[in-house]
Amino acid sequence: MLFSLHGIHVPHRKNTADMKPVRMVPPETVTIPMSMHIGKPADPVVKVGDKVYVGTLIGAQSGFVSAPVYSSVSGTVAKLEEIILSNGTKGCAVVIKSDGEMTPDPEIKAPTVDSKETLIEAIKNAGTVGLGGAGFPSYIKFNTPEGKHVDEMIINGAECEPYITSDTRTMIDKTEDIRRAIDYILRYIDIGRVIIGIENNKPKAIEAMRALEADERITVKVLPSLYPQGGEKVLVYHTTGKVIPAGKLPLDVGCIVVNVTTLGAIGNYIATGMPIVSKCVTVDGSAVKEPKNLIVPIGTKLSDVFEFAGGFRCEPKKVLLGGPMMGIAVPTLDTPVMKNTNATVAFDEKDAAPKPETACIRCGGCANHCPVSLNPAAIMRAYKSGDTDALAQLRVDICMECGCCSYTCPAGQRLVETNKLSKALLREEAMKKKEAEKK
Ligand code: SF4
Ligand code: SF4
Repeated sequence: MLFSLHGIHVPHRKNTADMKPVRMVPPETVTIPMSMHIGKPADPVVKVGDKVYVGTLIGAQSGFVSAPVYSSVSGTVAKLEEIILSNGTKGCAVVIKSDGEMTPDPEIKAPTVDSKETLIEAIKNAGTVGLGGAGFPSYIKFNTPEGKHVDEMIINGAECEPYITSDTRTMIDKTEDIRRAIDYILRYIDIGRVIIGIENNKPKAIEAMRALEADERITVKVLPSLYPQGGEKVLVYHTTGKVIPAGKLPLDVGCIVVNVTTLGAIGNYIATGMPIVSKCVTVDGSAVKEPKNLIVPIGTKLSDVFEFAGGFRCEPKKVLLGGPMMGIAVPTLDTPVMKNTNATVAFDEKDAAPKPETACIRCGGCANHCPVSLNPAAIMRAYKSGDTDALAQLRVDICMECGCCSYTCPAGQRLVETNKLSKALLREEAMKKKEAEKK
């Protein structure tokens, strides 16, 4: 597979980059999902009426690919309920009535980290997952096989989506947490060097991270502002020149990729023992009265977040969890902020209106701009004719759902949506095949 500087120039709209995050007052209740990560949901370990504090364990890790979940407020467990998660699936959530005090759990203390094993345990107990959006439990990435040398740890500070500035603020405001995490990781995991990849439209974040270059193993790589610079494969290519083959992981080419806010959360846990209980969330979009960055307790409903941000300037026609390129439209403002929520954007009627859809004019623009060299127009034709063999050959499975193809299509074709449906179709077919083989 070929990589190049394919991608698109999108308007940056980093309106909140200079706004230091404001800590939200705790909402009356938080609804904390047990599944905020890829893998098995956490098992609830609290019952109705239990007293909890900020940082109290409320959901235990339930398998290898899973992560623990902690209370983000002090208060009382009000109920355990099933909710619709932002990805459309159902899952259990713990609802906690806040006492407004935000009292930290008295049991919390900084962990002892003096070996690779204790470091991995700390990263696991911090509850960290890929906070840039992926939600993959972080400890697994660092649990490298015995004797395995990793050439590079790539720190993702690209933050290439329009509007979002939460990673930018982490780099500026939490530099010491990031430094601490890198220091411990380099001490106990066999990693050659660290590259911090940041787009060139974040001068203050670049300056903050340059301070870490005092350690000669750390380099800041300033990247062109070209979406999707923060895509894992794109970032590895643009920071190291290495190509991750289709179906392979960064570790297969000697790299670990970690989001900068994830690293900040690990650094904070090592210093204080406080796991991840809140997130810096960018609140922006044409329907928002006062765009800002907020520190939000995990589980806070979007309605509370927008209200605290000053409310809407007009009725929002579309609200996304995440940014405008990869964010997920939410059906209700009851949707809670999760560990991997970095932004919520709300758009007015004009900005929410979809492009009118007309026939494909075979201009090739979608293929020319795809960062992983797919042919979205051909995928669309294969999907419409139900040709799953062609879909497999066209490698729709490696589509990273970045949305560059849809963004550039002059005919307003729903290319990224078609790719998601095509991937689901292939998954379904593979499952049916597996079931048939079992019989
Ligand atoms: S959404 Fe998929 S097909 Fe479209 S540009 Fe991105 S990676 Fe390529
Ligand atoms: S960009 Fe749109 S119009 Fe052009 S080839 Fe792709 S699907 Fe067709």
